[in-house]
Amino acid sequence: MNKSISKIKNQICWASKEIYQRGLVNMGEGNISLRVEGKEEMIITPSGNNYLNPLPEDMVHITFEDKTLIMGKKPSSEYNFHRMIYQERSRAKCIIHTHSTYASILAVQRLSLPIIFEEMLVFLGGGVPCSAYAPTGTGELGKKALEAMGKQNAVILANHGFLIVGRNAEHCVFGAQLVEKMAKIYVTSISMGKVYEISEENLSNLTDRFKEEFSTI
Ligand code: 13P
Ligand code: ZN
Repeated sequence: MNKSISKIKNQICWASKEIYQRGLVNMGEGNISLRVEGKEEMIITPSGNNYLNPLPEDMVHITFEDKTLIMGKKPSSEYNFHRMIYQERSRAKCIIHTHSTYASILAVQRLSLPIIFEEMLVFLGGGVPCSAYAPTGTGELGKKALEAMGKQNAVILANHGFLIVGRNAEHCVFGAQLVEKMAKIYVTSISMGKVYEISEENLSNLTDRFKEEFSTI
């Protein structure tokens, strides 16, 4: 097997274990993909990924265009939104989708996550908008996610969970954990009373850092 393909498969196995250990996914939910550099192809987790013991040989190599199976098991049922995001965003190299608890509470309330911590500006590009509802496994879900995401790196998927896009697997794992942590703080805080949001004004140094290091557009 091509050296870079086996490296990508190992990275997906690493990210699978990380998000599982950090409590961001249960078995049978969520998915992860990485772009194959310079090609219209990606490697994606199989449908029903085994996060506890992910095997490189179980990862699925498919083309963006027609889901031609190059190698591996049955791909994630969400391959559509993964490929749509890679096709739309040239700097997107990794995508993680989870049904983590606090982000999913916002998803069922169809609420966006406002900017409550400055680090959201650096790593996510701002708040995390909530998309309009679309059924799981459809291209419509990818369309609605891209529409809502704007310039940011993450989007809450109505009645479903969230997804995050990154320039590499490490960014994406870190960002996924950040979204869930921010959602937990927000959900807990609004149940206690007023929440103060941060305005992007006067924080252009943070948004500049996002554009240079983390933006996927
Ligand atoms: P897959 O196991 O097919 O990737 O589906 C999980 C999921 O989260 C669907 O939205
Ligand atoms: Zn899902």
